[in-house]
Amino acid sequence: MILTSPTPIDLNIGAIRQQFPILGRAVKDRPLVYFDNAATTQKPQAVIDTISQYYGNYNANIHRGIHSLAEEATAAYEASRMAVKEFIGAALSEEVIFTRGTTEGINLVACTWGRANIAAGDEILISGMEHHSNIVPWQILCHEKNAILKVIPVLDNGELSMTDYHNLLSPKTKLVAVAQASNALGTVNPVKPMIKAAHQVGAVVLIDGAQSAVHLDIDVQDMDCDFFAFSGHKLYGPTGIGVLFGKKDILESMPVFQGGGEMIKEVTFERTTYNELPYKFEAGTPNIADAIALKTALEFLNDLGKDNIRKHEAALLKYATARLETIPGLTIVGKAREKVGLVSFIIKGVHPQDIGVLLDNQGIAVRTGHHCTQPLMARFGIAGTVRASFAVYNTFEEVDALIAGLWKALKMLS
Ligand code: PMP
Repeated sequence: MILTSPTPIDLNIGAIRQQFPILGRAVKDRPLVYFDNAATTQKPQAVIDTISQYYGNYNANIHRGIHSLAEEATAAYEASRMAVKEFIGAALSEEVIFTRGTTEGINLVACTWGRANIAAGDEILISGMEHHSNIVPWQILCHEKNAILKVIPVLDNGELSMTDYHNLLSPKTKLVAVAQASNALGTVNPVKPMIKAAHQVGAVVLIDGAQSAVHLDIDVQDMDCDFFAFSGHKLYGPTGIGVLFGKKDILESMPVFQGGGEMIKEVTFERTTYNELPYKFEAGTPNIADAIALKTALEFLNDLGKDNIRKHEAALLKYATARLETIPGLTIVGKAREKVGLVSFIIKGVHPQDIGVLLDNQGIAVRTGHHCTQPLMARFGIAGTVRASFAVYNTFEEVDALIAGLWKALKMLS
Protein backbone atom coordinates (compact mmCIF):
# COMPACT_ATOMS: atom_id res chain seq x y z
CA MET A 1 0.00 0.00 0.00
CA ILE A 2 1.74 3.17 -1.12
CA LEU A 3 -0.28 5.71 0.73
CA THR A 4 1.38 7.99 3.20
CA SER A 5 -0.46 8.83 6.39
CA PRO A 6 -0.98 12.58 6.29
CA THR A 7 -0.05 14.02 9.65
CA PRO A 8 -2.41 16.71 10.89
CA ILE A 9 -0.62 19.99 11.16
CA ASP A 10 -2.14 21.59 14.20
CA LEU A 11 -2.97 18.73 16.53
CA ASN A 12 -0.80 16.54 18.69
CA ILE A 13 -2.87 13.39 18.54
CA GLY A 14 -0.58 11.55 20.99
CA ALA A 15 -1.14 14.24 23.61
CA ILE A 16 -4.88 14.26 22.91
CA ARG A 17 -5.03 10.49 23.39
CA GLN A 18 -3.40 10.90 26.79
CA GLN A 19 -6.47 12.84 27.89
CA PHE A 20 -8.70 9.79 27.33
CA PRO A 21 -8.06 7.18 30.02
CA ILE A 22 -10.13 4.51 28.25
CA LEU A 23 -7.77 4.58 25.25
CA GLY A 24 -5.08 3.07 27.47
CA ARG A 25 -7.01 -0.12 28.07
CA ALA A 26 -6.78 -3.41 26.27
CA VAL A 27 -9.60 -5.41 24.72
CA LYS A 28 -9.05 -9.12 24.15
CA ASP A 29 -5.38 -8.52 25.08
CA ARG A 30 -4.97 -5.99 22.27
CA PRO A 31 -4.76 -2.21 22.51
CA LEU A 32 -8.27 -0.84 22.07
CA VAL A 33 -9.00 0.61 18.64
CA TYR A 34 -12.22 2.54 19.05
CA PHE A 35 -14.05 3.25 15.80
CA ASP A 36 -17.59 3.48 17.18
CA ASN A 37 -17.57 7.22 17.72
CA ALA A 38 -20.80 7.90 15.85
CA ALA A 39 -22.58 5.78 18.48
CA THR A 40 -20.83 7.56 21.33
CA THR A 41 -17.45 9.18 21.74
CA GLN A 42 -15.07 8.47 24.58
CA LYS A 43 -14.71 11.06 27.35
CA PRO A 44 -11.64 13.12 28.20
CA GLN A 45 -10.43 13.14 31.81
CA ALA A 46 -11.62 16.75 32.18
CA VAL A 47 -15.24 15.70 31.55
CA ILE A 48 -14.94 12.80 33.99
CA ASP A 49 -13.39 15.16 36.57
CA THR A 50 -16.16 17.74 36.19
CA ILE A 51 -18.77 15.10 37.04
CA SER A 52 -16.85 13.87 40.05
CA GLN A 53 -16.12 17.44 41.24
CA TYR A 54 -19.82 18.25 41.12
CA TYR A 55 -20.76 15.24 43.25
CA GLY A 56 -17.72 15.65 45.50
CA ASN A 57 -17.98 19.42 46.09
CA TYR A 58 -21.24 21.11 45.29
CA ASN A 59 -23.97 18.56 44.66
CA ALA A 60 -27.30 20.34 45.30
CA ASN A 61 -30.62 20.76 43.57
CA ILE A 62 -30.70 23.86 41.41
CA HIS A 63 -32.75 27.05 41.10
CA ARG A 64 -34.84 26.89 44.27
CA GLY A 65 -32.16 26.73 46.94
CA ILE A 66 -30.75 29.75 48.74
CA HIS A 67 -27.83 27.92 50.32
CA SER A 68 -24.32 28.12 48.89
CA LEU A 69 -24.19 24.69 47.34
CA ALA A 70 -27.47 25.29 45.49
CA GLU A 71 -26.17 28.62 44.27
CA GLU A 72 -22.91 27.08 43.03
CA ALA A 73 -24.71 24.24 41.27
CA THR A 74 -27.23 26.64 39.69
CA ALA A 75 -24.45 28.93 38.47
CA ALA A 76 -22.57 26.02 36.89
CA TYR A 77 -25.73 24.64 35.27
CA GLU A 78 -26.64 28.03 33.80
CA ALA A 79 -23.04 28.64 32.72
CA SER A 80 -23.32 25.46 30.71
CA ARG A 81 -26.46 26.75 29.04
CA MET A 82 -24.52 29.90 28.07
CA ALA A 83 -21.71 27.75 26.68
CA VAL A 84 -24.21 25.83 24.57
CA LYS A 85 -25.74 29.09 23.35
CA GLU A 86 -22.29 30.17 22.12
CA PHE A 87 -21.51 26.74 20.69
CA ILE A 88 -24.58 26.73 18.43
CA GLY A 89 -24.71 30.46 17.79
CA ALA A 90 -28.13 30.97 19.36
CA ALA A 91 -29.29 34.51 19.97
CA LEU A 92 -30.63 33.85 23.47
CA SER A 93 -29.92 31.40 26.28
CA GLU A 94 -33.71 30.94 26.77
CA GLU A 95 -33.67 29.18 23.42
CA VAL A 96 -31.46 26.40 24.84
CA ILE A 97 -33.42 23.62 26.52
CA PHE A 98 -31.59 20.81 28.24
CA THR A 99 -32.93 17.39 27.33
CA ARG A 100 -31.85 13.79 27.72
CA GLY A 101 -30.54 13.76 24.17
CA THR A 102 -31.50 14.16 20.53
CA THR A 103 -34.30 11.62 20.85
CA GLU A 104 -35.97 13.51 23.66
CA GLY A 105 -35.58 16.82 21.84
CA ILE A 106 -37.33 15.49 18.74
CA ASN A 107 -40.07 13.87 20.82
CA LEU A 108 -40.57 17.14 22.70
CA VAL A 109 -41.19 18.97 19.43
CA ALA A 110 -43.49 16.21 18.13
CA CYS A 111 -45.51 16.09 21.36
CA THR A 112 -45.89 19.85 21.85
CA TRP A 113 -45.44 21.81 18.63
CA GLY A 114 -46.69 18.83 16.63
CA ARG A 115 -49.87 18.25 18.62
CA ALA A 116 -50.70 21.95 18.49
CA ASN A 117 -49.92 22.59 14.84
CA ILE A 118 -50.48 19.43 12.81
CA ALA A 119 -53.97 18.71 11.50
CA ALA A 120 -55.57 16.08 9.25
CA GLY A 121 -54.14 16.17 5.73
CA ASP A 122 -51.03 18.14 6.72
CA GLU A 123 -47.70 16.80 5.52
CA ILE A 124 -44.52 16.17 7.46
CA LEU A 125 -41.45 15.76 5.30
CA ILE A 126 -38.48 13.72 6.48
CA SER A 127 -35.64 12.16 4.53
CA GLY A 128 -34.88 8.58 3.56
CA MET A 129 -31.71 8.57 5.63
CA GLU A 130 -33.24 9.49 8.98
CA HIS A 131 -32.41 7.73 12.22
CA HIS A 132 -35.43 5.98 13.75
CA SER A 133 -35.60 8.76 16.33
CA ASN A 134 -36.39 11.23 13.53
CA ILE A 135 -38.96 8.90 11.96
CA VAL A 136 -41.00 7.26 14.69
CA PRO A 137 -42.09 10.42 16.63
CA TRP A 138 -43.46 11.84 13.36
CA GLN A 139 -45.15 8.57 12.48
CA ILE A 140 -46.88 8.56 15.87
CA LEU A 141 -47.96 12.16 15.34
CA CYS A 142 -49.21 11.51 11.80
CA HIS A 143 -51.17 8.51 13.04
CA GLU A 144 -52.75 10.58 15.82
CA LYS A 145 -53.62 13.49 13.55
CA ASN A 146 -54.36 11.76 10.26
CA ALA A 147 -51.45 13.64 8.76
CA ILE A 148 -49.16 12.35 6.02
CA LEU A 149 -45.49 11.44 6.35
CA LYS A 150 -43.53 12.04 3.15
CA VAL A 151 -39.96 11.03 2.46
CA ILE A 152 -37.19 12.70 0.43
CA PRO A 153 -35.54 9.90 -1.57
CA VAL A 154 -31.86 9.02 -1.21
CA LEU A 155 -29.75 8.78 -4.38
CA ASP A 156 -27.38 5.89 -5.06
CA ASN A 157 -24.38 7.93 -3.90
CA GLY A 158 -26.03 8.55 -0.52
CA GLU A 159 -27.07 12.15 -1.14
CA LEU A 160 -30.64 13.38 -0.92
CA SER A 161 -32.45 14.04 -4.17
CA MET A 162 -32.83 17.80 -4.14
CA THR A 163 -35.09 17.70 -7.20
CA ASP A 164 -37.49 15.46 -5.30
CA TYR A 165 -37.17 17.62 -2.21
CA HIS A 166 -38.31 20.71 -4.06
CA ASN A 167 -41.13 18.77 -5.72
CA LEU A 168 -42.33 17.38 -2.40
CA LEU A 169 -42.48 20.79 -0.73
CA SER A 170 -45.91 22.39 -0.92
CA PRO A 171 -48.17 24.59 1.18
CA LYS A 172 -49.37 21.33 2.77
CA THR A 173 -45.87 20.79 4.21
CA LYS A 174 -46.03 21.90 7.82
CA LEU A 175 -42.73 20.49 9.04
CA VAL A 176 -39.44 19.37 7.51
CA ALA A 177 -37.29 17.21 9.81
CA VAL A 178 -33.88 16.16 8.48
CA ALA A 179 -30.49 15.12 9.76
CA GLN A 180 -27.64 17.49 9.02
CA ALA A 181 -25.34 14.47 8.82
CA SER A 182 -26.27 10.83 8.39
CA ASN A 183 -25.10 8.37 11.03
CA ALA A 184 -25.22 5.48 8.57
CA LEU A 185 -23.72 7.02 5.41
CA GLY A 186 -21.84 10.06 6.68
CA THR A 187 -23.62 12.29 4.15
CA VAL A 188 -23.72 15.98 5.04
CA ASN A 189 -27.02 17.41 3.83
CA PRO A 190 -27.28 20.96 2.45
CA VAL A 191 -29.53 22.07 5.28
CA LYS A 192 -29.23 25.82 4.78
CA PRO A 193 -30.82 25.93 1.31
CA MET A 194 -33.25 23.20 2.39
CA ILE A 195 -34.41 25.35 5.30
CA LYS A 196 -34.78 28.37 3.04
CA ALA A 197 -36.95 26.41 0.61
CA ALA A 198 -39.06 24.98 3.45
CA HIS A 199 -39.66 28.44 4.88
CA GLN A 200 -40.82 29.63 1.46
CA VAL A 201 -43.78 27.24 1.68
CA GLY A 202 -44.39 28.17 5.32
CA ALA A 203 -42.98 24.99 6.89
CA VAL A 204 -41.12 24.83 10.18
CA VAL A 205 -37.77 23.00 10.14
CA LEU A 206 -36.19 20.70 12.69
CA ILE A 207 -32.56 19.73 12.17
CA ASP A 208 -31.28 16.54 13.76
CA GLY A 209 -27.77 17.56 14.75
CA ALA A 210 -26.83 14.31 16.50
CA GLN A 211 -24.02 13.59 14.03
CA SER A 212 -23.19 17.10 12.89
CA ALA A 213 -22.71 19.05 16.12
CA VAL A 214 -19.36 17.39 16.84
CA HIS A 215 -17.94 17.82 13.34
CA LEU A 216 -19.43 20.92 11.74
CA ASP A 217 -19.57 24.55 12.84
CA ILE A 218 -23.11 25.10 14.02
CA ASP A 219 -24.74 28.50 13.70
CA VAL A 220 -28.47 28.14 14.20
CA GLN A 221 -29.09 31.79 13.33
CA ASP A 222 -27.22 31.58 10.05
CA MET A 223 -28.81 28.21 9.26
CA ASP A 224 -32.17 29.72 10.26
CA CYS A 225 -33.54 26.39 11.53
CA ASP A 226 -36.52 26.53 13.86
CA PHE A 227 -35.34 23.60 15.99
CA PHE A 228 -31.96 21.93 16.36
CA ALA A 229 -31.42 18.84 18.52
CA PHE A 230 -28.19 17.16 19.58
CA SER A 231 -26.73 14.83 22.21
CA GLY A 232 -23.82 15.51 24.57
CA HIS A 233 -22.45 11.98 24.44
CA LYS A 234 -21.59 12.20 20.75
CA LEU A 235 -19.33 15.21 21.32
CA TYR A 236 -17.05 13.99 24.10
CA GLY A 237 -19.65 14.79 26.77
CA PRO A 238 -21.67 12.59 29.09
CA THR A 239 -24.66 10.43 28.24
CA GLY A 240 -28.09 11.52 29.43
CA ILE A 241 -27.70 15.16 28.46
CA GLY A 242 -28.66 16.85 25.24
CA VAL A 243 -29.99 20.09 23.88
CA LEU A 244 -33.01 21.26 22.00
CA PHE A 245 -32.64 24.69 20.45
CA GLY A 246 -35.84 26.40 19.39
CA LYS A 247 -36.59 29.90 18.15
CA LYS A 248 -37.98 31.89 21.05
CA ASP A 249 -41.28 32.89 19.47
CA ILE A 250 -42.01 29.30 18.46
CA LEU A 251 -41.04 27.89 21.87
CA GLU A 252 -43.21 30.50 23.57
CA SER A 253 -46.22 29.58 21.46
CA MET A 254 -45.81 25.87 22.19
CA PRO A 255 -47.80 23.96 24.81
CA VAL A 256 -45.79 22.49 27.69
CA PHE A 257 -44.18 19.04 27.48
CA GLN A 258 -43.98 17.35 30.89
CA GLY A 259 -45.70 18.74 33.97
CA GLY A 260 -43.97 18.98 37.34
CA GLY A 261 -41.66 21.10 39.44
CA GLU A 262 -39.65 23.92 37.87
CA MET A 263 -41.86 24.31 34.80
CA ILE A 264 -44.56 26.17 36.75
CA LYS A 265 -45.06 29.74 37.91
CA GLU A 266 -48.05 29.13 40.15
CA VAL A 267 -50.15 26.07 40.92
CA THR A 268 -53.60 25.86 42.45
CA PHE A 269 -55.92 22.89 42.22
CA GLU A 270 -57.94 24.84 39.70
CA ARG A 271 -55.21 25.97 37.36
CA THR A 272 -51.47 26.27 36.76
CA THR A 273 -49.49 29.01 35.12
CA TYR A 274 -46.24 28.08 33.48
CA ASN A 275 -42.68 29.24 33.91
CA GLU A 276 -40.73 31.24 31.37
CA LEU A 277 -38.37 29.78 28.81
CA PRO A 278 -36.39 27.61 29.01
CA TYR A 279 -37.69 26.28 32.37
CA LYS A 280 -41.16 25.77 30.90
CA PHE A 281 -39.68 22.72 29.13
CA GLU A 282 -37.43 21.48 31.94
CA ALA A 283 -39.81 19.80 34.39
CA GLY A 284 -38.35 18.09 37.44
CA THR A 285 -34.77 17.87 38.67
CA PRO A 286 -32.62 17.88 35.55
CA ASN A 287 -29.43 15.99 34.88
CA ILE A 288 -27.34 18.60 36.67
CA ALA A 289 -23.95 16.87 36.75
CA ASP A 290 -23.98 15.95 33.11
CA ALA A 291 -25.29 19.34 32.00
CA ILE A 292 -22.34 20.94 33.80
CA ALA A 293 -19.90 18.46 32.27
CA LEU A 294 -21.29 19.21 28.82
CA LYS A 295 -19.64 22.62 29.12
CA THR A 296 -16.31 20.91 29.76
CA ALA A 297 -16.82 18.83 26.62
CA LEU A 298 -17.55 21.96 24.57
CA GLU A 299 -14.40 23.57 25.97
CA PHE A 300 -12.43 20.50 24.94
CA LEU A 301 -13.78 20.84 21.39
CA ASN A 302 -13.26 24.60 21.24
CA ASP A 303 -9.71 24.36 22.59
CA LEU A 304 -8.69 21.92 19.86
CA GLY A 305 -10.65 23.83 17.24
CA LYS A 306 -13.33 22.14 15.20
CA ASP A 307 -11.53 23.11 12.03
CA ASN A 308 -8.40 21.22 13.11
CA ILE A 309 -10.48 18.25 14.19
CA ARG A 310 -12.32 18.25 10.89
CA LYS A 311 -9.06 18.26 8.93
CA HIS A 312 -7.76 15.32 10.92
CA GLU A 313 -10.97 13.32 10.59
CA ALA A 314 -11.21 14.10 6.87
CA ALA A 315 -7.67 12.80 6.41
CA LEU A 316 -8.53 9.64 8.34
CA LEU A 317 -11.65 9.19 6.21
CA LYS A 318 -9.73 9.63 2.96
CA TYR A 319 -7.02 7.22 4.07
CA ALA A 320 -9.48 4.62 5.38
CA THR A 321 -11.67 4.85 2.25
CA ALA A 322 -8.69 4.34 -0.07
CA ARG A 323 -7.39 1.40 1.93
CA LEU A 324 -10.81 -0.25 2.32
CA GLU A 325 -11.35 -0.07 -1.44
CA THR A 326 -8.38 -2.39 -1.94
CA ILE A 327 -10.22 -5.22 -0.16
CA PRO A 328 -11.82 -7.58 -2.68
CA GLY A 329 -15.62 -7.66 -2.60
CA LEU A 330 -15.86 -4.59 -0.39
CA THR A 331 -18.39 -1.89 -1.29
CA ILE A 332 -18.60 1.44 0.44
CA VAL A 333 -22.19 2.42 1.14
CA GLY A 334 -22.54 6.19 0.98
CA LYS A 335 -20.24 8.12 -1.32
CA ALA A 336 -21.65 11.59 -0.93
CA ARG A 337 -19.47 14.48 -2.02
CA GLU A 338 -19.54 15.87 1.50
CA LYS A 339 -19.21 13.47 4.40
CA VAL A 340 -18.40 13.54 8.09
CA GLY A 341 -15.70 11.16 9.27
CA LEU A 342 -17.38 7.82 8.97
CA VAL A 343 -17.34 5.02 6.46
CA SER A 344 -19.96 2.30 6.07
CA PHE A 345 -19.25 -0.80 4.01
CA ILE A 346 -20.38 -4.29 3.12
CA ILE A 347 -18.32 -7.23 1.92
CA LYS A 348 -19.80 -9.61 -0.61
CA GLY A 349 -20.91 -12.89 0.93
CA VAL A 350 -20.03 -11.90 4.49
CA HIS A 351 -22.45 -10.91 7.23
CA PRO A 352 -21.53 -7.57 8.83
CA GLN A 353 -22.00 -9.04 12.28
CA ASP A 354 -19.40 -11.74 11.64
CA ILE A 355 -16.93 -9.04 10.68
CA GLY A 356 -17.80 -7.09 13.82
CA VAL A 357 -17.19 -10.09 16.07
CA LEU A 358 -13.91 -11.01 14.40
CA LEU A 359 -12.69 -7.41 14.62
CA ASP A 360 -13.69 -7.25 18.28
CA ASN A 361 -11.55 -10.35 18.88
CA GLN A 362 -8.65 -8.18 17.73
CA GLY A 363 -9.61 -5.28 20.02
CA ILE A 364 -11.21 -3.24 17.23
CA ALA A 365 -14.62 -1.73 17.98
CA VAL A 366 -16.82 -1.00 14.97
CA ARG A 367 -20.59 -0.87 14.72
CA THR A 368 -22.47 -3.39 12.61
CA GLY A 369 -26.12 -3.64 11.68
CA HIS A 370 -28.81 -1.22 10.54
CA HIS A 371 -27.62 1.75 12.63
CA CYS A 372 -31.26 2.56 13.56
CA THR A 373 -31.89 3.38 9.90
CA GLN A 374 -33.83 0.33 8.72
CA PRO A 375 -35.67 2.17 5.90
CA LEU A 376 -32.31 3.41 4.58
CA MET A 377 -30.89 -0.12 4.65
CA ALA A 378 -34.01 -1.31 2.77
CA ARG A 379 -33.40 1.45 0.19
CA PHE A 380 -29.96 -0.04 -0.50
CA GLY A 381 -31.31 -3.60 -0.36
CA ILE A 382 -29.06 -4.60 2.52
CA ALA A 383 -29.64 -5.72 6.10
CA GLY A 384 -26.83 -3.64 7.50
CA THR A 385 -23.26 -2.42 7.14
CA VAL A 386 -20.01 -2.33 9.04
CA ARG A 387 -19.35 1.24 10.14
CA ALA A 388 -16.07 2.77 11.24
CA SER A 389 -16.52 6.27 12.60
CA PHE A 390 -13.68 8.55 13.54
CA ALA A 391 -12.92 10.96 16.36
CA VAL A 392 -10.06 13.34 17.00
CA TYR A 393 -8.08 10.75 18.97
CA ASN A 394 -8.01 8.17 16.17
CA THR A 395 -4.79 7.55 14.28
CA PHE A 396 -3.67 6.36 10.89
CA GLU A 397 -2.04 3.37 12.60
CA GLU A 398 -5.47 2.44 13.92
CA VAL A 399 -6.83 2.54 10.37
CA ASP A 400 -3.97 0.21 9.40
CA ALA A 401 -5.01 -2.08 12.27
CA LEU A 402 -8.58 -2.08 10.95
CA ILE A 403 -7.43 -3.04 7.47
CA ALA A 404 -5.15 -5.77 8.79
CA GLY A 405 -7.98 -6.93 11.05
CA LEU A 406 -10.33 -7.14 8.10
CA TRP A 407 -7.90 -9.21 6.07
CA LYS A 408 -7.51 -11.57 9.01
CA ALA A 409 -11.29 -11.78 9.50
CA LEU A 410 -11.83 -12.54 5.83
CA LYS A 411 -9.20 -15.26 5.91
CA MET A 412 -10.94 -16.89 8.86
CA LEU A 413 -14.30 -16.69 7.12
CA SER A 414 -13.11 -18.10 3.82
N1 PMP B 1 -30.16 11.04 15.07
C1 PMP B 1 -28.99 10.58 14.60
C2 PMP B 1 -28.57 10.97 13.21
C3 PMP B 1 -28.20 9.77 15.40
O1 PMP B 1 -27.04 9.31 14.93
C4 PMP B 1 -28.63 9.43 16.71
C5 PMP B 1 -27.81 8.52 17.60
N2 PMP B 1 -27.31 7.39 16.96
C6 PMP B 1 -29.84 9.95 17.15
C7 PMP B 1 -30.57 10.75 16.31
C8 PMP B 1 -30.35 9.67 18.52
O2 PMP B 1 -29.49 10.20 19.48
P1 PMP B 1 -29.64 9.81 21.01
O3 PMP B 1 -29.69 8.31 21.06
O4 PMP B 1 -28.41 10.36 21.66
O5 PMP B 1 -30.90 10.42 21.51
